[in-house]
Amino acid sequence: MTRSFLIKPVLGQKYPCVTHGNGIYLFDKQGKQYIDGSSGAVTASIGHGVQEIIDAMAEQAKKVSFVYRSQFTTEAAEQLAKKLSEIAPGDLNWSFFVNSGSEATETAMKIAIQYWQEKGITTKNKIISRRMSYHGITMGALSMSGHVQRRSRFEPMLENYPSVSAPYYYRDAGNLTIEECDDFYAQELETEILRVGKDNIAAFIAEPMIGAAGGALTPSEQYFQKMKAVCDRYDILFIADEVMTGIGRTGKMFAMEHFGVIPDIIATGKGMSAGYTPMAATIVSERVMEAMFSGSKVVMSGHTFSANPQSAAISLAVLHYIEKYNLVENSAEMGAYLKGKICELAEKSEIIGDVRGKGLFLGIEFVEDQLTKTSFSRELDVTSRIVNANFEEGLLVYPANAGQDGLTGDAIILSPPLTITKEEVDEVVRRFSVALEKVE
Ligand code: PLP
Repeated sequence: MTRSFLIKPVLGQKYPCVTHGNGIYLFDKQGKQYIDGSSGAVTASIGHGVQEIIDAMAEQAKKVSFVYRSQFTTEAAEQLAKKLSEIAPGDLNWSFFVNSGSEATETAMKIAIQYWQEKGITTKNKIISRRMSYHGITMGALSMSGHVQRRSRFEPMLENYPSVSAPYYYRDAGNLTIEECDDFYAQELETEILRVGKDNIAAFIAEPMIGAAGGALTPSEQYFQKMKAVCDRYDILFIADEVMTGIGRTGKMFAMEHFGVIPDIIATGKGMSAGYTPMAATIVSERVMEAMFSGSKVVMSGHTFSANPQSAAISLAVLHYIEKYNLVENSAEMGAYLKGKICELAEKSEIIGDVRGKGLFLGIEFVEDQLTKTSFSRELDVTSRIVNANFEEGLLVYPANAGQDGLTGDAIILSPPLTITKEEVDEVVRRFSVALEKVE
C-alpha cells in the first residue's frame, strides 16, 4: 500500500492530482479537463497559466524574494500599496499586507480596536457581526464569523461576539417589502448595540455579499446605507470583508461600490493575487490611520511574510492585468449573461429556489419545494450531490451554506475566472445543466 503524507481536507478521500492549468481550464494526471467554474475558492480570477504573471514572478525573483518588513521596504510592496489606494474607494489609502483572508480580517479587527485605544477609549473591543458570515479560520476571524459548521469544534475557545441577521430577502421578505426588511435589519443592529453598549463595540464587520455562509447573498442598494447610519450614530467603525468579493469579482472593483457606502477598513485577499501567491491586505482609511500617526505610531500586528516582495510583485502584475484587459467590465457583462442563462434553467428546474448575485459572483439555492421554499433535509446533502455531479461533468462549483441558522439550506457559488468568454459561459451552462439533471 502506498502511503500519502499530505493531509487532505477529508482524510482518506482521493483527490485528483492536477498537472497544469490554462485559462479557465485545469487538467489532472488522468488527462481529465475541468472548467474552473468557481476559480477554486473564488480566487483564480484571471485564470491559470497567465504568461504576464509568470514573467513578473521571474523578474522579481531575480531582484529579491524576501526582506523583513520591519527592516526594509521594497518597490514592489510600495507600488502595490499605491495601486490599492488608487483603486480603493474614498480615502482608503493605507495597506497592511498579510498572507490570507483570515489574517486580513483579523488585522482589521485589531486595527479597529487599536483605533479606539489611540483615542483613549479602551473599552471598545468587541466586534459586531452577522450570523450568516464567514470571516476566516484563525481564532479572531472565526470569533467574528457565524459559520456554524466551521465554528462548532472550537466554540468554547471563541469570543462570543454580538451578532445580527444578514439580509436574506428570499426567506425574510415574505409579507415584508425589501425596504421594510432593511429597516428591520438596521433596527436589529441598533437594538444589539444598545444591549451590548456602544462603548464596548469597536466595529461592525460584514461581507458586502455573503460567500461561503450564504451563497452570494446580495443586499438591496439601500441596506448598507441604513446599517452604516446606525454605526455612525454610535461611533462604530465599519469593516467591509471583501476577501471574496473584492478586485472585480462582482463587476465593480470592490463590491461596496454597488451599495454607496465607503467603509473605514476593507479586508481583501483571494482575487488580489488570483491565486498566483498567498497575498491579502487590510486597507485602512486616512481617518483611522490619523489616530495611529498621532498616537503610538505602531500598528500592532504583522507576520514574517507580510509585504513579501515576491508576492507583492505578483499581485501588482495581477492588478495591472485586470486593468489592461478590462476584466472588471467583463465580470459585469459575462456575469449578467451567465445569470440570465441560469435563470432560464431555473424556470425548468424543480429544485432551484433562488438565483442571486452580481457580476461573476453568483449563488444558486436549492429547495425541496419551490412554492413553500422548504429546504432539503440535511441527510440528503444536496449541496455535495450538486458539487459532485458537476465535478463528474468537469465543472468546479463552490459549496455554500444557506439558512439563517447556518445549518439548513443548500447552495453553491458559480464564480469562474473574470477572463471568461461568452462561448466559455455557454459551456459552463451546458455542463451545469447536465449535472443538474442527474441530481433532479
Ligand atoms: N473572508 C471571507 C469573506 C472569505 O470568504 C474567506 C475565505 O473563504 C475568508 C475571509 C478567509 O480567507 P482565507 O481562507 O484566505 O484565510
